[in-house]
Amino acid sequence: MKKLQITLTLICLFMTIASFGQTYWTPSTLPMVHLQDRTKYVINPDEVLNQATVDSLDRELYLLEEETGVQTVVVVVRHIEGDDPYQFGQDIADKYGIGHKGKDDGLFVMLCTDDRSYTILTGDGLEGALPDATCRRIQNRVMVPLLKEGKWDMAMTATIRAIDYYIRGDEDFKQVIDSSDEYDEYDPLLPLLTMGVLGSGMIALGVYASKKRCPKCKKRKMKVVAYNKFTDDNGKRKIKVTYRCTNCGHEMTTIHDNNEDNFRGGSGGAIFGGRIGRGGFGGGGSIGGSFGGGHFGGGGSTGRF
Ligand SMILES: [Zn+2]
Repeated sequence: MKKLQITLTLICLFMTIASFGQTYWTPSTLPMVHLQDRTKYVINPDEVLNQATVDSLDRELYLLEEETGVQTVVVVVRHIEGDDPYQFGQDIADKYGIGHKGKDDGLFVMLCTDDRSYTILTGDGLEGALPDATCRRIQNRVMVPLLKEGKWDMAMTATIRAIDYYIRGDEDFKQVIDSSDEYDEYDPLLPLLTMGVLGSGMIALGVYASKKRCPKCKKRKMKVVAYNKFTDDNGKRKIKVTYRCTNCGHEMTTIHDNNEDNFRGGSGGAIFGGRIGRGGFGGGGSIGGSFGGGHFGGGGSTGRF
């Protein structure tokens, strides 16, 4: 009996090696990191993403769950078995019950880099905050342009950030992303979502939304063309945003406080650490999380790049 097991193991091992050392993940083999550590949300077994990106997304998604209840599973792999990300997500959601029972506030985001596929799936309770059309817009405007350039870390950071803004109901952000289905050759969303200026990014997005009507020709054609951080004479950190009207060429700049440090301290450091401390598990290893039995009814959007 033991011999048979060893033989089977060897056959499996051989098959894995035969497929060029690539793992084709299934809902059963995928490691559910959240179950081992409740502060982990990003499943990155092929190490497609940098650890820094994973850590930053984990923090953001931890806060999202703490503050809104939305429970997210993010998967970034090279391949999945069957090459059907929609079905894969549904199977994961069914198997583990992502989201909370009754609220159905689960969210599933997956990127398969070598399969060149992606999906965002929403629990039934999220379809109001994050309708299918919005998922598709976020994919078309934020995710796909970066995926086409092979920028996996930036693509996932920007996508999760956009989803985060949406779930929290940031009106300025909605206004910007709802304003167009098309990806412009210079889309101000991308630098704002990927530059690591989450706090000031929010402000700048607001500024963009409110100032995008050209003061000269009155057309809503103002685009962000530059975005610089600098320190002023008083040693205060500032951000200068330059806009240009694509209709009449009128240019303008605005200057804002750079709250990046404050925000980072709040989001990544102090608050996060404080919460863990209050939860009482800062000291000795990680504590496993759980999923709440949420239901996914087919909402979301799936595509290829
Ligand atoms: Zn103009």
